[in-house]
Amino acid sequence: MNCIFGPVNSRRLGRSLGIDLFLDKICNLNCLYCEVGRTITPVGRRDYYSDTNAILAEIDRFCSDTSRLAEVDVVTVTASGEPTLHKDLGKILRHIKATTNKPLAVLTNGTTLHDPQVRAELLVADIVTPSLDSAREESFRKIDRPIQGLHLSEIIAGLQAFSHEYQGKLWLEILFVQGINDTDADIEALIAALRPMRIDRIQLNTVVRPPAESFAHAVPSPELSAIGARIQEALSLPVDFPHEPAPKTVFPEQSPSATSCAADEEGIVQAIVEMLQRRPCTAADIDRTFHIQGPEKVERLLEPLIRSHTLQIQEHGGQRFYQIAS
Ligand code: SF4
Repeated sequence: MNCIFGPVNSRRLGRSLGIDLFLDKICNLNCLYCEVGRTITPVGRRDYYSDTNAILAEIDRFCSDTSRLAEVDVVTVTASGEPTLHKDLGKILRHIKATTNKPLAVLTNGTTLHDPQVRAELLVADIVTPSLDSAREESFRKIDRPIQGLHLSEIIAGLQAFSHEYQGKLWLEILFVQGINDTDADIEALIAALRPMRIDRIQLNTVVRPPAESFAHAVPSPELSAIGARIQEALSLPVDFPHEPAPKTVFPEQSPSATSCAADEEGIVQAIVEMLQRRPCTAADIDRTFHIQGPEKVERLLEPLIRSHTLQIQEHGGQRFYQIAS
C-alpha cells in the first residue's frame, strides 16, 4: 500500500521515516487549515481502516535493508487523517519498536485520548505530539470542525490523563488561525487548560502551507511570537515556532557524481513525489529535506512533472508550493 515515506528531514525530529497508516483521508475533524484537504466523510469510531498485515510487511521489507535503516533517526507514525482511529495502532507501534529499534514518534490530533485503550497503546512511543488548537468550545468548533459527538471537555480530560500516565516526551502542538483562535480569551483558556498537564514542550504553528479553506489565514509572526511569549511565561515551558532553523539533511553533503546523477535523481524525484503526496512543499522545503543544491535545482528537477501535470504549483502566503495535481 506504499505506507512508508522518507526518511525525510523533519524540522523537529531529524531524519524521520514516515509510516502513513491511511492513504485516503480518515479523520474525525475537518480542520480549516488541513494540508490534506477537506474531510469529506468524517468518522468517529475506531475501526480497521487499513490492511495491517500489508503495513507490517512493508515495515519488514524496509528493515531488511540495514543500510537504509541506518539512515533513519526516528520512525514517525502519522496518517492522512488521524492514526489513532486505526484499531490496530497498538499492534503496529509494537512491531515498529521491535523491528527498527529506533525512537518512535506518533502524531495525533489528540481527540481519542479520552479512550483508555488508545492511551495504553501510545505508551510504547518515545514521543507523542498531540494537538490542541483551542480550549474554548466556540473556537474549537470553528477551527477544527469536529464530527458530531466529539466534545472539547472530553478531549482536554483525555489529554490531561495521558500527560500523567505517559512517561515519554509529550510535545503539544497548537495551530493558530488568524481571527479564529487567537484572541486573548483563547490564549487564557489554553493556558488554564494546559496548566495541570505534564507537557515537555509546546510547538506553535500557523497556516504556513495551503489550507483546506482559503479563508484560513496565518497569524503574522509578531503576533505569534507575542502569543508564544505569553504561553512560555505562564507555563514555564519551551515553546517552538514555525520557520525555525536548520534541519539535518537526509542525503550526504557531497554532490552526486556525474555518472550516478541520473539514477540518483530518479530516486530523489520519487522520494519528493512521495513526500508531496503527504503535504505541499516549497522548493526550499524540498531542498532542505533532500539537499538538492538549491531551490533553483529543485525547480529544474520538477519541471517535467509540472509539464506532465503530475504536480501543480499553488501560491500561498507569497510562496509557491508544489503539490500533487488535482
Ligand atoms: S489537520 Fe489533521 S486532524 Fe485536522 S482534519 Fe487534517 S488530518 Fe484531520
